[in-house]
Amino acid sequence: MSGTPDFFIQVLLDVPIGERFDYRAEPDQVPLLAPGAWVVVPWAQTRRVGLVIAVSGASELAPERVRTVLQVLADAPRLAPDWFDFLAFVAGYYHRPLGEVALPALPKLLRSPPAPRARGSVFARLRRRDLALPVDLASGGGPMAAAAATSGAATSEAATSEAATSGAATAEAPPLAPAAPPALNGAQQAALAEILAGQGFQTFLLHGVTGSGKTEVYLHWLADVLARDERAQVLLMVPEIGLTPQLVGLLRARFATLPIAILHSELPDAERAAHWLAAVEGRARLIVGTRLAVLTPLPHLAAIVVDEEHDPSYKQQEGVRYSARDMAVALAARRAIAVVLGSATPSLESWLAARRGRYRLLTLPDRVHAGALPVLRRVDPRRKVLAHGLTPETRQAIERSLGLGEQALVFMNRRGFAPVLNCDACGWLSACENCAAFRVLHRQASAGPAQRYSLLCHHCGAQEPVPRACPGCGNIDLTPLGRGTQRLEDGLRELFPAARIARLDRDVARHRGAAREVLQAAHRGEVDLLVGTQMLAKGHDFRRLSCVVVVDADSGLYSADFRAPERLFAVLMQVAGRAGRAGGHSEVVVQTRFAHHPLFDALARYDFAAFANAQLAERQAAALPPFVFQALLRVEAVKLETALDFLARARQAGEPVPERVTLFDPVPMPMVRLAGRERAQLLLESASRKALHAFLDAWLPGVAGLKGAVRWQIEVDPIEI
Ligand code: ADP
Ligand code: ZN
Ligand code: ZN
Repeated sequence: MSGTPDFFIQVLLDVPIGERFDYRAEPDQVPLLAPGAWVVVPWAQTRRVGLVIAVSGASELAPERVRTVLQVLADAPRLAPDWFDFLAFVAGYYHRPLGEVALPALPKLLRSPPAPRARGSVFARLRRRDLALPVDLASGGGPMAAAAATSGAATSEAATSEAATSGAATAEAPPLAPAAPPALNGAQQAALAEILAGQGFQTFLLHGVTGSGKTEVYLHWLADVLARDERAQVLLMVPEIGLTPQLVGLLRARFATLPIAILHSELPDAERAAHWLAAVEGRARLIVGTRLAVLTPLPHLAAIVVDEEHDPSYKQQEGVRYSARDMAVALAARRAIAVVLGSATPSLESWLAARRGRYRLLTLPDRVHAGALPVLRRVDPRRKVLAHGLTPETRQAIERSLGLGEQALVFMNRRGFAPVLNCDACGWLSACENCAAFRVLHRQASAGPAQRYSLLCHHCGAQEPVPRACPGCGNIDLTPLGRGTQRLEDGLRELFPAARIARLDRDVARHRGAAREVLQAAHRGEVDLLVGTQMLAKGHDFRRLSCVVVVDADSGLYSADFRAPERLFAVLMQVAGRAGRAGGHSEVVVQTRFAHHPLFDALARYDFAAFANAQLAERQAAALPPFVFQALLRVEAVKLETALDFLARARQAGEPVPERVTLFDPVPMPMVRLAGRERAQLLLESASRKALHAFLDAWLPGVAGLKGAVRWQIEVDPIEI
């Protein structure tokens, strides 16, 4: 060793064990190293990208155990301490190592180590890219507007030729000058004035039915924040960008000269990394993104909007299971800025927070255009002559709309052809071998005379061709039971042969650009009858839609999951809100066997407050969230007993349980078998969030030390139990 003193760094890595890892730096690397720097380090036999969290002159490890940094990614953006502080909060709240939160927050392209002989830097390449979007996202403004928005960047040839080959993008001439915003109405002005009057951190809950003008309030506010400080960045979070191409178009038109970054996981890797980098380096000023956007380092963040704040897709369902909505509020608090949560049907968590005065409630009571919301009718399908599952009243309602040259939408929350395949002779059902669930009969996309069907498990993804004969008895007459969107579409074609029909669900949307194609066709008036799942319920603006049919509303009314009615109400409000936006008579027909259920009474009056307050009263009486806080320890093993045994020992390790915390008995999960593993869970609960987290902090290290052939994870604030 020479005379140079040793230099060590502590690195965050995306590994489930440990928190930070020590590495030794070479003398020539030292000037490049500081907290927030990016490095490539050896990990077992592999190389990994890590983030430097601290530097020091010593390591507590034995010298021979400390390995040396392979490379410093010198032109990566230095990540700021306040971002690490925020991520440390997220990691602490969800009880996971910081590296497991921080590294997945980087785009995939950037968290993979560069090839050892890679020429040039990926960062430099990404900085040269403009922020033009792939065509299927740039529906309104199009790549030209996007190029105009990136200060000084030339339109790339790729973007131009993409635009030229896209009928949609060339048909709608991209607006080059900013589109003028409409003047706000009284209620919108009042809401905006309250937001603008706020100082520092504050959470606003903007409540108003679909079409009441929430989006305009957001955009006016964001425009104001952007205008006041030329460096300011604003974050607009949406549940799913692919389903709201109109929003991206609107933003590009409204902020035509502003660099916009779009952050969501379905973008191609390089695209996503380029947008991310522009956001992180402060070059992008408006950041539009899905849940992962909340974990992006934004140096000049000055305002946050969470649109459709109740949407379950804000909850990450694998890895670190964070709620992007909740973390957006936490982020706003740390940055001392305002956050606006908007919804027609706020989550009961947010509604309660508003009732208690923790959030400030802003209300837009009416639709901007065309006052009347659709009239809601309830139709009991029992003792009716059903055709393809539809009652005579339902069919007449569709017919009337079509007859007037208007559009109708048939909503069913079950994709596929039929939920199960059955043998009449022996009772065989298409059960999944790996899961406690049935495989769903699907028709392959390649329609035609020789249509092919398969059986697909919606839980583990296993797929097989439909057996030629019953595996139980050899009978060749297998019958589909029940109905999914594909079968419903067939039925509608039979009932309404003259109508132009289009379907939208996850199966259709799997093909790139297909969802957008259906939605735009509907927009252009080329579709008379839309059929599909709740993908149709999101923020689309169908101008001629005057009839919405809900085929199967009942499963959400009486479910084991106490949140099911809340979700059902939100989805029904949302689909209903699609209708009648152009004025004139419009209606919603709900087929239900529980026509007198109070949920439908509140829905018929579009009275969210009545529904929410009644639900909250029930939740309070039953001591359920949001009146208590929960966490769930989930365990999976080959055998259920192994999982239950692990949980029993975990429960024991928690003794004595503090007074304010309850640990329930380990139980099998509602769906015990998934992908060949058996699952059980243990619910923890407390009326005090603080007490719950203190207990988790003390308890989880012990759980981690337990032996057992299991995989386990802790979930804080689960939304499905
Ligand atoms: P929400 O987000 O609540 O569904 P939007 O903000 O999208 O509502 O408004 C619904 C429709 O009304 C949109 O087409 C929007 O452009 C239009 N709109 C909103 N506010 C105004 C206004 N003050 N004047 C005219 N049109 C408006
Ligand atoms: Zn059989
Ligand atoms: Zn399965």
